[in-house]
Amino acid sequence: MITINEHYLKLQASYLFSDIARRVATFQQNNPEVEVIKLGIGDVTRPLPRACIEAMHRAVEEMGAEPTFRGYGPEQGYAFLREAIALHDFQARGADIQADEIFVSDGAKCDTGNIQELFSQDIRVAIPDPVYPVYLDTNVMAGRTGEFAHGRYQGIVYLDSTRENNFVPSLPAEPVDLIYLCFPNNPTGSTISKAELKTWVDYARANKALILFDAAYEIFIRDESLPHSIYEIEGAKEVALEFRSYSKSAGFTGTRCAYTVVPKECTAFDRNGNRQLLHSLWNRRHCTKFNGVSYPVQRAAEAVYSEEGRMQTRELADYYLQNAASVRREMQALGFSLVGGENAPYVWIDGGRDSWEFFDMLLNKAGVVCTPGAGFGRCGNGYIRISAFNSHENVEKALQRIRQALS
Ligand code: PLP
Repeated sequence: MITINEHYLKLQASYLFSDIARRVATFQQNNPEVEVIKLGIGDVTRPLPRACIEAMHRAVEEMGAEPTFRGYGPEQGYAFLREAIALHDFQARGADIQADEIFVSDGAKCDTGNIQELFSQDIRVAIPDPVYPVYLDTNVMAGRTGEFAHGRYQGIVYLDSTRENNFVPSLPAEPVDLIYLCFPNNPTGSTISKAELKTWVDYARANKALILFDAAYEIFIRDESLPHSIYEIEGAKEVALEFRSYSKSAGFTGTRCAYTVVPKECTAFDRNGNRQLLHSLWNRRHCTKFNGVSYPVQRAAEAVYSEEGRMQTRELADYYLQNAASVRREMQALGFSLVGGENAPYVWIDGGRDSWEFFDMLLNKAGVVCTPGAGFGRCGNGYIRISAFNSHENVEKALQRIRQALS
């Protein structure tokens, strides 16, 4: 008899986006004349940078000619891309990361979801609340949690991100082995200072723990005192892996390219207490289960680091940040307290009422779709997330409608 992985049965159905879609559909049915403006999901809307398109075109031509055709590439990514990443994303910021510590992939979602395979079943896992749900669900699937009760999975150490700690979680009160951190944060748009990040690195070093640092929104950092990479913190190479993505930095959500950094010094322990290199384990896993990102897409990602590419991706992020600034300005003027939107494409707004109630009010009175904070965890209740991924025109129109609806 074929039996299933019963841990999947513990998963809470993701009602969030289907619930949103259902409510929007009902609203549209009842109000067909209203053009709904979506500031909900975290998907980009602007086209790919010119430099990426041109590089991809050239690569496609190479694939169409016998002398330059390429079949399977290296699973870890082509050297041209890994070298560009190491140089521009790390060495240029004083972080000593080498090309062979970069593993190119087709998404940070897969990487942040798959990485937990390297660790044993009985580790203690710390996950922020609110959170990008992939970290949590993949640990549920792997059997590292108990049942879901009162809005939380048993066995997980939740790291509350609240107004009281400025949406940067404090060190856990109980011992943990694996820690997920994401800055700039989805969903709150909050950031972490070097000093705060250092406390986490020091904690991991002192407690033989490992940090998984998701920096998918790094391109939006404008405050130059903030760390772009955890490897800007001394000692992090021994206790942290980092995840990056071109999805938000270069509009690659539909093109697919990302990478994970696994430093050679970074270790975890076997049952005898001996240190094992995570680089060797992840390399083995990556080569066994993944066959590389397509050549044209890797050439497009490489073009992000050209002079034009850097300018164009900066402009792209600035475009969305301008939207975020408008959202901040308008919502603050309406009397809401909020965070994010200055170094991140998300603004996290305290609605002063139930998340879904605020969502319904914005939808029904303004025809604007946001994301209810409660969908990201218990600490998200009372908040909504407004995303900056839309055109200037739509964001201005949405804000004008919200102003009218609330006044
Ligand atoms: N990490 C965070 C925090 C995200 O918000 C997202 C996407 O929304 C991802 C990772 C996924 O990135 P990718 O498109 O590279 O899979």
